Amino acid sequence: MDDSIEMDCAPAVPNIKREAPNILITGTPGVGKSTLCRMLAETTGMQWLEISKIAKENNCLEEYDEVYQCPVLDEDKLMDGMEEAMCQGGNIVDYHSCEFFPERWFDVVFVLTTDNTTLYDRLTSRGYTGKKLQDNVECEIFQVILDEAKNSYKEEIVHEIQSITPEQLQENIEKICLWIQQWFETN
Ligand code: ADP
Repeated sequence: MDDSIEMDCAPAVPNIKREAPNILITGTPGVGKSTLCRMLAETTGMQWLEISKIAKENNCLEEYDEVYQCPVLDEDKLMDGMEEAMCQGGNIVDYHSCEFFPERWFDVVFVLTTDNTTLYDRLTSRGYTGKKLQDNVECEIFQVILDEAKNSYKEEIVHEIQSITPEQLQENIEKICLWIQQWFETN
């Protein structure tokens, strides 16, 4: 994350009082969301909500999209199940899309990005091929998730962070931890 980013810790939507902030970590598959979230959860004690896993465990998958080779979420059922935890706060939500979550749930949104070569290599080693590989790399090239986040949340709470190298991973953790600390000081 760029040092020049202004870390706004005011509540994203006024009049919502949570015990701890909710953080959304989003980005194209392979950018490093799980890696970052796992380490953040270990460091902060916050709850890591891995949406793909939760959806599967709670039967929130409606069908399988053969074209995009991924399951389609039953979003309403998933949202209902998450509402209580999200109202309480202290969650790190990890998903490769962000437009369908209620805006009021999040205090800050981090969009992870990489360069195209890095993403291509990571997805290839994960076994992605053909259209699935191409679509995901294009998704990153055209900054689809970053645009989605900017269109879905107040722009001042949306931060793009690069996750190409292990050093950047460490920096991102430190900066998000600092953001969390500032949130507690101001809320
Ligand atoms: P996502 O959850 O977004 O699909 P992952 O966290 O599974 O992505 O990361 C994909 C791969 O990239 C993993 O092999 C992970 O170890 C690696 N990776 C993630 N972030 C970094 C980073 N900052 N530097 C080097 N490798 C990384």
